[in-house]
Amino acid sequence: MDLKQYIADVKDFPEKGIIFRDISPLMADGEAYRYATNEIAKYAKDKGVEMIVGPEARGFIVGCPVAYELGIGFAPARKKGKLPRETVEVSYGLEYGSDVLQIHKDAIKPGQKVMVCDDLLATGGTIAATIQLIEKLGGIVVGTAFLIELTDLNGRAQIEGYDIFTLMDY
Ligand code: IMP
Repeated sequence: MDLKQYIADVKDFPEKGIIFRDISPLMADGEAYRYATNEIAKYAKDKGVEMIVGPEARGFIVGCPVAYELGIGFAPARKKGKLPRETVEVSYGLEYGSDVLQIHKDAIKPGQKVMVCDDLLATGGTIAATIQLIEKLGGIVVGTAFLIELTDLNGRAQIEGYDIFTLMDY
């Protein structure tokens, strides 16, 4: 399936000069959303993934249906102050700005095989921070999956040595 037809290219959002790749048309199409979910689920199954972590907020949109499909758990990584119980945290740089990401301290069991999911790999800051959170808890990141990779930004360099699965390149 040609998934790119379901991505809206939004010029100058959120800042001038940036082309924002909007995944909402893909999510709005049941067949495309299911196809993307199933492709990532196949990858996760091959990797023996036991738990999925997704960063706020579009990581939930990508990761949760995969977890449901595989019958495994999902844990959210969230911006500081959103999670109600004890957390661990890391600060990280974004394509636009910087932030702190947290995860519940009991979200991952030591030794658990984890996949990180997000909608898009840009500079790699978000995924690198999410990986750090998982590793702080003793989880083993066996794979990462994205709908989209912005190859010019070379986010891959931030997560060298980790396996990466993507469905679309720009
Ligand atoms: P990175 O940390 O620079 O790799 O940026 C990735 C994060 O920013 C992801 O969580 C994305 O949701 C978000 N992001 C950056 N650029 C875009 C875009 O063009 N479309 C959608 N999300 C984006």
